[in-house]
Amino acid sequence: MQPAPLTMMLALLDVQKWRPRPMRRHGPRIRFFTLEAGSCEGCAMELVSLGSSAYPLEGSGFQRVQHPEDADWLLVTGSVTRSSASALASAWEAMPAGRSLVAVGNCAYDGGLWKNNYATLGGIHTLTRVYSSIPGCPPSPSAILQALVELAEGVSSSTGSQASSASRRSRQ
Ligand code: SF4
Repeated sequence: MQPAPLTMMLALLDVQKWRPRPMRRHGPRIRFFTLEAGSCEGCAMELVSLGSSAYPLEGSGFQRVQHPEDADWLLVTGSVTRSSASALASAWEAMPAGRSLVAVGNCAYDGGLWKNNYATLGGIHTLTRVYSSIPGCPPSPSAILQALVELAEGVSSSTGSQASSASRRSRQ
């Protein structure tokens, strides 16, 4: 049996197939599953807040789901600890074809405050070459929603405030 970090890296290889999808204001919502992969959980709490009535999540074309099998996108928070690697790989493998990965917050991108900690793998930055990310520590719920809308509309914006812009990064 392969070690969990290697399993995760293999499972995430097809993240390179990321394709922003057009916003479907009149069609099915984009469904996303969230996974906390080891951190202070600040970003995870902002995602919880995004699901409150204060933010027009569903009105913007998104739906948070409870199971990765039902999800189009996987939103990851946290620096990807060694102990969370298998859960991340399992969630990714459970998602249907056409899945996409979004790193929410600085930790999910490159490990953030814990990037050099022995217990982490250094974020998704170290595991895959192309993905989408929402920077910030943490990004606010409104910034996350704006970034999701931009990603859904296929806008690759790296301008504006760091916390309010979604960026698509390449390590090629
Ligand atoms: S990016 Fe900041 S708020 Fe988010 S999990 Fe890391 S330390 Fe916490």
